[in-house]
Amino acid sequence: MTAVAALLAGLAAGEVEILDLTAPLSPETPILQLPPPFANTIPLSLETVSDFDEAGPAWGWNNIHTGEHTGTHLDAPVHWATGRDGYSVDAIPPSRLVGPAVVLDFTAEAAEDPDFVLEPEHLDKHVANNGPIPEGAWLVFRTGWSRFNKDAAAFANADENGPHTPGVSPAGAEWLARSPITGFAVETVGVDAGQAGAMEPPFPVHHYLLGANKFGLTQLQNLERLPASGALIIASPLPIVGGTGSPARVLAIIPA
Ligand code: MN
Repeated sequence: MTAVAALLAGLAAGEVEILDLTAPLSPETPILQLPPPFANTIPLSLETVSDFDEAGPAWGWNNIHTGEHTGTHLDAPVHWATGRDGYSVDAIPPSRLVGPAVVLDFTAEAAEDPDFVLEPEHLDKHVANNGPIPEGAWLVFRTGWSRFNKDAAAFANADENGPHTPGVSPAGAEWLARSPITGFAVETVGVDAGQAGAMEPPFPVHHYLLGANKFGLTQLQNLERLPASGALIIASPLPIVGGTGSPARVLAIIPA
């Protein structure tokens, strides 16, 4: 039996399940809000072309208006100054979008401290307990933050000092960039902590990870159903030519 046949047999027998890690995409989906003088992208909106009316009696269809970095989305290396010689979203080899999931659960720490950041010692401890991170893995940072994703204010958790959401320290981001992962996946609006603009360098995950020609994956949900290891993640951004990112459907193949 080929490996694909084994997978199909597992699906047919109910031994394998497809889990959707994607947040629903609507005009209400929270998006990043940068402070002035920086510009922001637009939220998703649908513009009706026809709706079973005179403009199209037997068909409905819409134009979509959206930023590249809206909802569950992939950050391509060219999104950041350090990654400008790397892949645009269309140029990413498909094999780099599919990989084993390695889930690090910091839900309790993020509930205690919304500014919690991953440090090298957290990552070293994971490797000491579980063995090396496999080549091409999606490292998934589970924080429980997706429980807020229908409430933009709670999701951003901002005060006069900006947003307070979990992320990664500069040293942790360097660790990720040196690791064999294909990318880093989070539940929050972006791969960096809410307070990452004040770090050195600012937005260290963007700086180091995209600079290493790796990817970010944001606004995932249903991570509580993802096993710590043993799942396969498939990220499918649109191949926008020259694009810096794209909304993506993200699926996990898990043992039932
Ligand atoms: Mn982004």
